[in-house]
Amino acid sequence: MSPELSQLVELQELDLEIQRIADKLASIPAEREQAEATFSQYAAEFLALKSQHEQSLENRTRLESELVETQAHHEKFKQDLMRVSNEREYVTALREIDATKKHASALETEILRRMEEAEELAAQLKTFAPDIDAKRAEVDEALATLDQERDREEDLVRSLEGRRAGIAAAISETLLSMYERVAKARRGIVLSEVRDGICSACRMRVRPKIFSDVRKGDQLITCDSCSRILFYRPNTTQSAEAVTT
Ligand SMILES: [Zn+2]
Repeated sequence: MSPELSQLVELQELDLEIQRIADKLASIPAEREQAEATFSQYAAEFLALKSQHEQSLENRTRLESELVETQAHHEKFKQDLMRVSNEREYVTALREIDATKKHASALETEILRRMEEAEELAAQLKTFAPDIDAKRAEVDEALATLDQERDREEDLVRSLEGRRAGIAAAISETLLSMYERVAKARRGIVLSEVRDGICSACRMRVRPKIFSDVRKGDQLITCDSCSRILFYRPNTTQSAEAVTT
């Protein structure tokens, strides 16, 4: 392979790797958001439970003062009963004594129900609280891992870009601008390896004469169907994968 051609191949491999890392870096903010959203959702359950507990306690307090009031009314009507002066007042007092008694009893039942409810919610909250801390720690750890990954990938990109600049400097300006142009139009795939007589980028069979010239590797030959620069590597393995991604 001519030095020119092998420089272009290397340039493309670097560009594809740089692009791969850039894509990965671009996905990190969304992953961070996802981690935070998971936590907010989890914390929301806890906060909802907490406000439910507070509401239950408030309701009970309100019912308790209503009970005190009802009991006072009940006593008052009992006093009234002893002071009635006619049949109408007597019936009224009796009816009120009965009504306040029933109401007080209903309130007592409701207060008991609230007490049980608050106890249950308090127990749930108790199991929730350590979980919230653990969940936050889990999310923080995930975020830290993402940050480390980002730093690592950014370092890698910088070193790859340094290598790329070195190679690009060695390539003639005309060839480099041609490379950049095709890269833009062909989503980064400027060069294509010929394998088993087939252009690996567009999957078209290369004419035998061209294939034989490509194998020599001493000139720049483009694919008839996709216009990419063809190259050939005997016994290629993994490095060939880069040009087909
Ligand atoms: Zn092709």
